[in-house]
Amino acid sequence: MKKFFYLTILLLLTIFPGGCGDSAKETDVKDIPTEVATGKVVEPNDDGKSDGTKPAETKPDTKIDETKPEVKPTATVQAGKDYVVADDNLSNLQLTDPTIPVYDKYTIWERQEKGLPIALPALTPYEAESVVYLTFDDGPDDKVTPQVLDILKAEGVKATFYVCGNMVDTYPAVLKRIFDEGHAIGNHSYNHNYNQLYASPWSFMEQIIQTDNSIKNIIGVRPFIIRAPGGANGMFTANFYSMVEDCGYVEHDWNVLTEDATPSRPNASQQINNVLGYLGEQPPRTVILLMHCNGDKTETVKALPEIIRFLRDWGYKFGVVTPMTPQPW
Ligand SMILES: [Zn+2]
Repeated sequence: MKKFFYLTILLLLTIFPGGCGDSAKETDVKDIPTEVATGKVVEPNDDGKSDGTKPAETKPDTKIDETKPEVKPTATVQAGKDYVVADDNLSNLQLTDPTIPVYDKYTIWERQEKGLPIALPALTPYEAESVVYLTFDDGPDDKVTPQVLDILKAEGVKATFYVCGNMVDTYPAVLKRIFDEGHAIGNHSYNHNYNQLYASPWSFMEQIIQTDNSIKNIIGVRPFIIRAPGGANGMFTANFYSMVEDCGYVEHDWNVLTEDATPSRPNASQQINNVLGYLGEQPPRTVILLMHCNGDKTETVKALPEIIRFLRDWGYKFGVVTPMTPQPW
């Protein structure tokens, strides 16, 4: 497996050295994790508040006690924890409940070093019930994200937060709160910079791995779920999909959105109408709803309680994105 993974990466680098041309420099695979792990790239998001200063000091607060005996493969939630940690062989990811987040206690490099599987096994998508997955991108911040969390807590629903590494480094306490309150955390790149991310599949993956490190430093585990800034549907070529799959991640775009990040800046009632418009007369069984929880998204906060209310009235269960979440198209 280890050799296969190296070979895959090397093959991709050989065949697709830069994605967009010959400007890409040769990359030594062995050097990448070290460089990535330094977390040196700090660039503000398009609409983020990061000022590029050194991230706040964070004390890792690891929920995973590595001195504990190995947990047997099981599809049930570990006692006292409202999330599932993948077992070494990734054999416990076929869940029966769409409301439980899934994480890995290893980074992909740790899996590689231990000779453990990296690519996810085939999973049957969860389609037993109508489920809405509320997703919030580009956070965490210390203003809008806490307000979103307050509403989710008051309404008693779980959601998924696709976070950027530079925001995680800046607001670690908010990331910890998301985790502790039982929501799912997904990886949304380190700096959200399209030019850097989509220069090549490996450029994209470097930021995913860097963000994994930021997340794992704070909560002790890392996500399998990712969302490509701008959406994979619009930004990925086949080589990006292969890279993501080989590295053991699953990407989810969306099929419904509030349009809260569009230049038209819809207010709360317009956002509600946008959601109703996307749902249409025959709402889909699986709804992955895109919203944002950073910057000036206060209208999203105002719209959220009503959106939750009518989705609940229509009979949707509120799930969190996991590797078994169906694709939205
Ligand atoms: Zn984004």
